[in-house]
Amino acid sequence: MTTAPGTAAVVAGVEVDTRHWIGGHRVASAGTFDDVSPLDGTVIAQVSRGGQAEVDAAVAAAKAAFASWSQTPPAERAEVLHRVADGVDARLEELAQVETRDNGSLLRSHRRGVMPRVAMNFRFFADHVLELSHPDFETRGHRNHVSWDPAGVTAIVTPWNAPLMLATWRIGPALAAGNTVVAKPPEWAPLTASLLADIAHDAGLPDGVLNVVQGLGVEAGAPLVAHPDVRRVCFTGSVPTSVRIGESAARNVTPVSFELGGKSPLLVFDDADLDLAVDLAVEQFDNSGQVCLAAVRLLVQDGVYDEFRTRFLAKAATITQGDSRDESSDIGPLVSRTHFDRVDGFVTRAISDGAQVILGGGPNTGLNDATGGFYYRPTVFEGVDRSMEITCDEVFGPVLTLQRFASEEDGVAMANDTDYGLAATLVTGDRDRAERVASRLRAGTVWVNCFFVRDLSAPFGGSGRSGIGREGGTWSFDFYCDVKNSVFAPKGWN
Ligand code: NAD
Repeated sequence: MTTAPGTAAVVAGVEVDTRHWIGGHRVASAGTFDDVSPLDGTVIAQVSRGGQAEVDAAVAAAKAAFASWSQTPPAERAEVLHRVADGVDARLEELAQVETRDNGSLLRSHRRGVMPRVAMNFRFFADHVLELSHPDFETRGHRNHVSWDPAGVTAIVTPWNAPLMLATWRIGPALAAGNTVVAKPPEWAPLTASLLADIAHDAGLPDGVLNVVQGLGVEAGAPLVAHPDVRRVCFTGSVPTSVRIGESAARNVTPVSFELGGKSPLLVFDDADLDLAVDLAVEQFDNSGQVCLAAVRLLVQDGVYDEFRTRFLAKAATITQGDSRDESSDIGPLVSRTHFDRVDGFVTRAISDGAQVILGGGPNTGLNDATGGFYYRPTVFEGVDRSMEITCDEVFGPVLTLQRFASEEDGVAMANDTDYGLAATLVTGDRDRAERVASRLRAGTVWVNCFFVRDLSAPFGGSGRSGIGREGGTWSFDFYCDVKNSVFAPKGWN
């Protein structure tokens, strides 16, 4: 590996090439950007800063590779993707160490949950594409045959809160379907995408099938999603960015899949198991609240409100915040100084709007002074209402609101009173109520007496401003394929 300045870095003892990966080659840009670790605020890598030229080269490489990859039998593609998954498993510890240093999420979560899921994203979709049904329909003797044709070059633009997991959740099905990919990783956590390129190459993925262009959103992401040779745009990120991407993609009539933000509710009914409800509520601080699905609006029925409040605050006060590599830490820092300031802005404005802080309410100054990191204390507001920004807009930090409701009707109305619709969680001991309420909640995913458990075969996505489309299982292939109907006449054969 070359070690010219700005082309490589050693992070957590792992060598990472920080250049683009285009057509099976490492390509540097004239400029670089600094990659800062949120654990201590130090620059851990300088990463190639791509733009239109690198995007053009990557899309051209992906377009050239599509001719062969799209015609490779699905079972052969699946074999390669299984080898990629094996490569992820083999380098799991390195990936976990680098990701923790890069985005500040817990090392133990990366080891036990996130990186195994990265491997699963390849295995699951490699297998699932072989199980797609290709039905025939008969019309007046004519055979209508359904096939799943790969769409073409796919742009995959992802955020930093679970960078490799979120990227491979799209790269897996896109490649399994026979598409080729240009991925634009997040500039606040770009490194594991570069390691993935090495892993895929070592696994025998042909050159040009997976390309990685590093860079900033406006410089590298924008030309990618606007490129006329891109046939699918898959974006995970914030609502304002999705609007810009939607406008660009629309000019080329390129289909988009958007998985966006949330302001999800957690409903606790009078008949709930309160131990469970408290555990689920405290879980919402995981990853310092930087989870799109987090149930950040705690809505608790009158009869159990006081007891829930007491027990929840007591348990939340025991959360240990610290270095994400320590087993004893429950949560780490926010991803960047910019995001830290953004979260602090929400908290400051909520206080001036009249919301009452009942836990936290500011940075973890002692820890920040000691480490140079971007730690923010778990924070809970009470005395909030719908007129306040803090109940309406996504903070994407360790900030929850606590509100009470009287009847089931009120609870459902409050839960649905949001522009978002990514997820909703309810805790109740009454099965009939669970069915009734679940059916009335406007959200892509509803969890009853649980949280975050999901089968990859099931649909995933958001309603309202939480997104467009569904992915997961067959729904992923609906998006990554051009589904075709070929109608065969009964006669005319020689
Ligand atoms: P973001 O929208 O700022 O950036 C996401 C990605 O888009 C980054 O790679 C960025 O470089 C790129 N980008 C920025 N501007 C662009 C442009 N004009 N054209 C093309 N690409 C551009 O979001 P973020 O701050 O990185 O991530 C946080 C958001 O992601 C939150 O809203 C969160 O809820 C959401 N999210 C959603 C899901 C989901 O599955 N629904 C999962 C994780 C995160």
